[in-house]
Amino acid sequence: MKRVFSGIQPTGDIHIGNYVGALRQWVSLLDEYDCIYSVVDYHAVTVEYETSEMGQRSLDTAIILLACGLNPEKCHVMVQSHVPEHTELAWVFNCVTPVGEVERMTQFKDKSKQHRSNINMGLMDYPVLQAADILVYRAGFVPVGEDQVQHVELSREIARKFNGRFGQIFPEPEAILSCAPKILGTEGRSKMSKTLGNYIGILEEESEMWDKLRTAVTDVNRVRRSDPGDPEVCNIFTMHRAFSPEEAHSELDKGCRTASIGCIDCKRILFKQMMAELTPIREKALLLKNDRAYVMDALKQGAKACRAMAAETMEEVRTALGLLKA
Ligand code: SF4
Repeated sequence: MKRVFSGIQPTGDIHIGNYVGALRQWVSLLDEYDCIYSVVDYHAVTVEYETSEMGQRSLDTAIILLACGLNPEKCHVMVQSHVPEHTELAWVFNCVTPVGEVERMTQFKDKSKQHRSNINMGLMDYPVLQAADILVYRAGFVPVGEDQVQHVELSREIARKFNGRFGQIFPEPEAILSCAPKILGTEGRSKMSKTLGNYIGILEEESEMWDKLRTAVTDVNRVRRSDPGDPEVCNIFTMHRAFSPEEAHSELDKGCRTASIGCIDCKRILFKQMMAELTPIREKALLLKNDRAYVMDALKQGAKACRAMAAETMEEVRTALGLLKA
């Protein structure tokens, strides 16, 4: 079976952008691929954070992954730091990655602006660790959003450089692009993100979720209820594309363009659809929150299987590097 790897940062509070853009796709790949999904906590320590919260954030994120349908019987779900071979391989990859390549990464440039007072080596090295995350399992496929394609390209280049110098060990991984609509934040401008505070968390209180959706920006040119709107520039319509059945889209589109539907009604319809899909996940997450032993056991099993695969790769890597065996 072809192998897939993907990771998600331990924000602890997955939002509908993550759900639509990544998690749904991850679940859809389970039958076709041998999937490894990771809570990538070492990536999260590249920025300032509360150490007392990190463990819980990883656990909460893992709970959401399991609740969304990443059944540990069908895939491996684990925490990155539980498999130290990721960081070990990242070091080796550092030694074949030209500094210029990582400096030109868009995400590094963006994060350097966001974290001006803490532009550390980890921030710059992020895509090299990402390459190690993927290649330590010799995964051939990586489901990602458009913004991560550049990093998958770099992983391919790192694999090529390593193979060229030390022998053929790694495949060149390919991105599996999500065709999900890109959901913006509630202010309707930037990508939905926890850091930017413009998100609707899938486990938030229902009233809080509705409050965020109710006040979310729509077509800014639709000022009065009687003004016709343009669904193509409205983030709420994008969310309808993600949550409402296709047959409802044309009716909503027409209602918006002819002003026969108001934005609040449009949002109410969306919220109903959204909750219909998210409620079973929310209920499952609640059950899992009360069953820490099950979640920890799933993560332990995931890490055990992943360590076996990663150890095999590292053994070959050390041999290829010509290191003295212990
Ligand atoms: Fe957006 Fe719906 Fe309002 Fe049209 S009616 S502007 S699609 S929220």
